[in-house]
Amino acid sequence: MTQSRRNAPLSPATRAAQALRHIDPVTGSVTPAIDLSSTFARDADYAPRQRYIYGRDGGPTVEHAEAVIADLDGAARTLLFASGMAAIAAMLETLRAGDHVAAPRVMYHGGQTWLHRVAERRGIEVTFYDQADPEGPKAALRAGQSRILWIETPANPNWDIVDIEAAAKAAHDAGALLFADCTAAPPCTLQALRLGADVAFHSATKYMGGHSDLTAGALSLAVDGDLAAELRQVRSLMGSVIAAFEAWLLIRGLRTLFLRWEKASSNAMAIAHAMVGHPNVAQVLYPGLPDHPGHAIARAQMQGGFGGMLSLMVTGDGSIARDVARFTEVFIPATSLGGVESLIEHRKAVEGPYSIVPPQLLRLSVGIEDAADLIADLTQALERAG
Ligand SMILES: *Cc1c(COP(=O)(O)O)cnc(C)c1O
Repeated sequence: MTQSRRNAPLSPATRAAQALRHIDPVTGSVTPAIDLSSTFARDADYAPRQRYIYGRDGGPTVEHAEAVIADLDGAARTLLFASGMAAIAAMLETLRAGDHVAAPRVMYHGGQTWLHRVAERRGIEVTFYDQADPEGPKAALRAGQSRILWIETPANPNWDIVDIEAAAKAAHDAGALLFADCTAAPPCTLQALRLGADVAFHSATKYMGGHSDLTAGALSLAVDGDLAAELRQVRSLMGSVIAAFEAWLLIRGLRTLFLRWEKASSNAMAIAHAMVGHPNVAQVLYPGLPDHPGHAIARAQMQGGFGGMLSLMVTGDGSIARDVARFTEVFIPATSLGGVESLIEHRKAVEGPYSIVPPQLLRLSVGIEDAADLIADLTQALERAG
């Protein structure tokens, strides 16, 4: 009898766990080595031995991390940067004077600050639109002039959900690219490129790294064409490539992405249900709850779970919310998101007086701890504060 072999394609979770089945051909090592070299020797014909020349263009460890993310995203090419902001800056560097960008009114504040800077100094026009309004992107776009439609889904800190297929259609009808900030929905749950986005952006500092020990940004491109080549050149000239050690940490983090996401999602769902109806909680904002306005679209396009990001609207004028963030003993009061440890943040206090985030809002990044410990912690802090 012939031995039957499995011939079904491997699932993304399997490929990620094995870092694309990495086995060192010489040593048999199952963990990739870190290649720290900043320069690469040429051969006897004075040609590069492989494609590596100089570390500012990337190197073997960087390319390995890029390959793992490209595989998850279904991308023709992924480029890694030293931080999410470095990737955003490179993307905006491709704009020319007179170009128009449609971007969300409520989006990652660093990206918005950079967009304002570029607009003022380079003659780029920007229209900010409301992501909660399904007609928002279409109304903001200018046919022929718009270069980028920027979306963020789920979007900080209300976790508004954008219908990526509809946004892609609106962008392409106007001749623009769809740029999707998918930091809060990594490719274990959402593949924006498969839904029509041209560029999927991730702050890999967050879920992809997953351990709050690196900063990195990824641009995954649907097409390996002129834009990819320009971004590669910009990255090289700006010197904003990810370092080899961070790329290695990122590969390590990506191996547990699916597992971490699953646990963070089930913890967040348990917390959301436990907080609904708490006397000190006026509203729970979580796309996994059926009454969230984006729930139906989130369920359709986030097929691996809703993740660990949720916000609580606490009763009172904001002072109770701020006290809750001071009184938790398991949730750590810190910014950032997507790590194994749970974080709590009073965004209004962090963003300052110009912030449009309501003072009653608390943002939670739920980690992989025991759900009962997290719920008990929030409950005691809400009781002590209220
Ligand atoms: C953190 C974050 C960024 C910026 O990424 P850095 O890695 O901090 O530079 C961009 N967008 C979103 C949604 C983020 O949460």
